[in-house]
Amino acid sequence: MSAETRTALWRCARGALERALCSTFAAFGRPVILRSTYAEVVAQGCTGAELLELRHVAHRDFPRVARVVCALLRCKLQPTRAKMLCYGSRAAPDRVKPVFRLPNGDEAAGIWSAHARLAVVRFGQAVPIRRVLVHECAHALIHHFAGGFDYPFAILEGYAMLIESMVVTGRPPEPTSRRTGPAHARAQGRCMTVQGLLRFDWLEGPSATSVDYDAFLEGVVCFMGFLGELGNPHGRLVKTMLYELQEARADTWDKVYEWLLRVTSLSASALEGKFLTYVTRNRGYT
Ligand SMILES: [Zn+2]
Repeated sequence: MSAETRTALWRCARGALERALCSTFAAFGRPVILRSTYAEVVAQGCTGAELLELRHVAHRDFPRVARVVCALLRCKLQPTRAKMLCYGSRAAPDRVKPVFRLPNGDEAAGIWSAHARLAVVRFGQAVPIRRVLVHECAHALIHHFAGGFDYPFAILEGYAMLIESMVVTGRPPEPTSRRTGPAHARAQGRCMTVQGLLRFDWLEGPSATSVDYDAFLEGVVCFMGFLGELGNPHGRLVKTMLYELQEARADTWDKVYEWLLRVTSLSASALEGKFLTYVTRNRGYT
């Protein structure tokens, strides 16, 4: 896909997002704006209890997210206000739905748009709102503190899930937590190589959107665990990678892949073999 097509697609996606947001926000009266050290949350259709929870997460959890992100990126911790929109349970589901629809048709509980520099979340989904807020805040703060560095989607998703789990539960995510029947089966196909994960991109055309997203996310959790076992002279890759990829200017999937092979001194087949072993061990594949 050419750079122009890619940019046009992003513009199109951003335009659709903004139109959807405007049409939904107009319907719920005056928004409530909550400001904390690291975020500005514009809330619509929230109950009093939901607003209290939002405030609590913004004041208690977002500073922890910011500290982790700055440690990973080795940058100075400074206040910033990540922009977030939040729909409460009083925001009519039908109006809100289009905002959260992923390219594969699934509905997300939260989304982060790097292009719009905006996170959008909603109450009332299966995932607890604290997790959703922390996850999207991680995306927003990685983008901010990394100066918009273009990490592959799998890496951004991996770190957002890792930070979400560490801040909320104190533990890394479980590879099997998102497993479902068909996703489990399909996950053994194209997504379960390091290369397949790094290449995943919603904008790469229709074939990418047919990928089972749960299977992809499960693969990403495995990839992050795998990075926790791999090391280079500077330490475990999971702790050093965000910073080192920036230093190496590795901002496309193939540069990241080359970088991985270089720092681990592995061939592509050895790396994939080790990853498969890791996945098999941690997911109980037969
Ligand atoms: Zn995410």
